[in-house]
Amino acid sequence: MDLYEHQARELFEEHGILVPRAEVTDSSKEAREIARRLGGRVVVKAQVKTGGRGKAGGVRLAADPAAAELTARQILGMDIKGHTVGKVMLAQPVDIDTEFYVSYVLDRAAGRFLAIASAEGGMEIEEVAAGRPEAVARIPVDPAEGVTSAKAGEIAQAAGLPPQTVDVLVRLWEVLVREDALLVEVNPLVRTRQGQILALDGKVTLDDNARFRQARWGAEGAEHDDELEAAAAAKGLNYVKLDGEVGIIGNGAGLVMSTLDVVAGCGARPANFLDIGGGASAQVMADGLAVILSDPAVKSVFVNVFGGITACDAVADGIVRALDSVRLTKPLVVRLDGNNAARGRAILDGRAHPLVEQVTTMDGAALRAARLAATA
Ligand code: GDP
Ligand code: MN
Repeated sequence: MDLYEHQARELFEEHGILVPRAEVTDSSKEAREIARRLGGRVVVKAQVKTGGRGKAGGVRLAADPAAAELTARQILGMDIKGHTVGKVMLAQPVDIDTEFYVSYVLDRAAGRFLAIASAEGGMEIEEVAAGRPEAVARIPVDPAEGVTSAKAGEIAQAAGLPPQTVDVLVRLWEVLVREDALLVEVNPLVRTRQGQILALDGKVTLDDNARFRQARWGAEGAEHDDELEAAAAAKGLNYVKLDGEVGIIGNGAGLVMSTLDVVAGCGARPANFLDIGGGASAQVMADGLAVILSDPAVKSVFVNVFGGITACDAVADGIVRALDSVRLTKPLVVRLDGNNAARGRAILDGRAHPLVEQVTTMDGAALRAARLAATA
């Protein structure tokens, strides 16, 4: 789960990292009051879980409380890369001397963390890395050893950061470990004209697997970043949204995983992972189809079921029930095999929906679903 900037800011503060004074609100009227409390001049910042807010006009300086109210009114409700701004943070402006970039990110392939740091902060790090890779230091961090002062010194030196950043680098590592984060990023980390080192922006991604011991995010943690994932979770479905166009439903995580592979092998991209489980009822099938069909990216749907505990006739009943409750607008390819396959196929044949096709093999059905998605 990604945190909002103001939540990351709070964690930084708790771990002794300097941050600007700031408050959050969803009301432009209150923004005026906050600006007054903070001394008048403020930076108004959109709180959305995406970067590049500055470029999108979501980070703006306001000269006085009246301007803060107006600016907050303009930023609230704005759309930034598909994220609607529900809250703004008002922060005391900082006199920036230099902007740096620092982050710790999990490197799954290497089984380590990676410290990424650069003396060229402020802009997007991908751009710096693309244009001047030598300006971005990448130092592996052994998770068992962590970032000691010595390690932090090594990172700072490699990136050309001033020695005062060493303490911040150590504290940021503490944020990562104590809060069970997979990513901690500060861009920009700034040196002010007064010589202080401040975290001016923050991105923190928490490890969802550690949610049970991070009680403070309880309510927040239950929130899904994706609307469809939230709807599926509410129905008790094991659903993960992916980037492609072929919707996938299967029974059993292993079968669904291999279905994703087979669809990818046909040159198509799966739109989701959805496991309806071992003993799935007709209702679960209907719920699953409803979720997948409401994803606008989906061009075709592949239902791949090997009947075991879940008999194929129950799955077929579920599909028929879904067809009664959801208007099918996309082609559905169904492969039923195993327990009661013949009965299940007969049920679907009996329904004779023009958009439902049956293919008896997994490979054949995957290919058909991929073709249908490509020509949709
Ligand atoms: P992002 O665009 O989503 O990464 O949002 P940031 O919080 O990083 O803000 C974008 C840019 O606005 C920063 O890189 C700074 O250059 C600038 N900025 C933000 N806060 C302040 C501030 O208090 N003073 C000044 N001078 N610039 C700021
Ligand atoms: Mn930033």
